[in-house]
Amino acid sequence: MLAPAVHNPSQRPQPDSLWRAMAARSAHKLAPVSMGAPLARDLSVDVAVIGAGYSGLAAAYALQKRGVDCAVFDANPVGWGASGRNGGVVSSKFRLSFPLIDKLHGLDTAKRMHRLAHEGVRVVESFVDEFGLERAHFERTGSLRCAHTERAFAAIRAEADWVRTQLGDASMSVQSREEVTRETGSAGFVGGVLSADAGTILPLEYVCGIARGLTARGVPIYEATPIVEIARSLRGASGAVLRTPGGILHAKQVIVATNAYSDLTSATAAYQRELVPFRSAMIATARLPAELDARLMVQRRSYTETRRMMKWFRKVDGRMLFGGRDAFGKEGQATGFVALRRAMVALFPDLADVQIEYKWSGYVGMTFNALPHVGRSDDITTFCLGYNGAGVAMASLLGQHAAALALGDTPELALLGQQGLRPVPFHSLRAPGVRVVAAWYQFLDAVGA
Ligand SMILES: Cc1cc2nc3c(=O)[nH]c(=O)nc-3n(C[C@H](O)[C@H](O)[C@H](O)COP(=O)(O)OP(=O)(O)OC[C@H]3O[C@@H](n4cnc5c(N)ncnc54)[C@H](O)[C@@H]3O)c2cc1C
Repeated sequence: MLAPAVHNPSQRPQPDSLWRAMAARSAHKLAPVSMGAPLARDLSVDVAVIGAGYSGLAAAYALQKRGVDCAVFDANPVGWGASGRNGGVVSSKFRLSFPLIDKLHGLDTAKRMHRLAHEGVRVVESFVDEFGLERAHFERTGSLRCAHTERAFAAIRAEADWVRTQLGDASMSVQSREEVTRETGSAGFVGGVLSADAGTILPLEYVCGIARGLTARGVPIYEATPIVEIARSLRGASGAVLRTPGGILHAKQVIVATNAYSDLTSATAAYQRELVPFRSAMIATARLPAELDARLMVQRRSYTETRRMMKWFRKVDGRMLFGGRDAFGKEGQATGFVALRRAMVALFPDLADVQIEYKWSGYVGMTFNALPHVGRSDDITTFCLGYNGAGVAMASLLGQHAAALALGDTPELALLGQQGLRPVPFHSLRAPGVRVVAAWYQFLDAVGA
């Protein structure tokens, strides 16, 4: 029998982000973020969900809907991981383009993947409706992909064309250089493609709103409760015994929803080996002067660009929010922020004198095949992870599919389903490997290749 551990080794406060500041300003303050006390007794549930981000909460939602006794456990506050600190871009795509999926796996698979991608956006809409998450400000304003070279523009135009003719999806439309310049306020792009089935959300409000809704429906959420050890039940009983600092937990099934933070404890660290964690950093300016506010990003969409080391931006709370991947930095390090500011000013010279008021970062889980992975790692454990930086919608969907798998169902997963864990080859070399690839990408971006 496992003995409870004596202390919580890892609990940290919610990262100091614009989202935290906005939540603190709103009527409910940060109360919703600390809704669950730590587990302080032994407990038995049918399904234990590890991780209180979108994946874990979506799994708990699906379980609760089916009347399954479940509880959620997080080492930190709800949304402390990527779910509470991301850019809030709600997108309907994967890192692999649909034409490439067709080339590699055939048209039928591309169609199934396309359906899953758009279903993710529907799930966000339905959470917002069902839990009354007005404060999450979901706006289906679309996402504009801005081309940094003529070659990149031709490629994204061809992709939009393919999606329209082969998948019958007319939600993508091409914008000229003039249109992109007028809409963004940046002269740095040669054209763009607008995806209408996308939008923006306040990510911390969204994750906390779902958690509040689940708590109201009787799903216990234990914060400050790391799972520090997982063992199989003894004496032939099926199920798992999970150790936390405050109590022992018995569960028939376990869902691991810890994504790029899986190595917080050794109990879930094996799942980190499915991933190459990549640091993603964000900066938010001070509120923009009225003239700039009226000129930049007037449609309130999200914007991405075609560079390999992609930057993305949106306007929120009257500020420019600018983000990008930074393979070289560690969480909290200053280097990535300086580079981000430089990139922002290069695209928006008007922002040169506007102060940066918030900067924060987190880890995204990249996978070897550039797609999320959902599956069973053994007969009592299900996992979902690896959203490759696009998890707001996808984790909201795949958490629910993980719950279905845990209950023995076979949800439609197209290329996302996976039997067992498949660690990234040469995982121990991932950090230097990521740096080499990122440096190469930066070089290609710099020479406009
Ligand atoms: C800076 C940044 C910007 C991003 N921007 C976007 C964007 O604009 N659009 C988009 O779609 N996606 C974006 N993403 C990706 C997106 O945020 C993630 O894909 C998504 O939030 C993953 O959700 P999750 O629930 O799987 O994981 P997380 O939200 O990371 O949750 C994992 C949780 O597991 C907990 N945990 C880990 N180990 C244990 C353990 N042993 N015991 C208990 N708890 C444990 C952690 O404390 C954490 O709270 C971004 C990510 C980052 C970091």
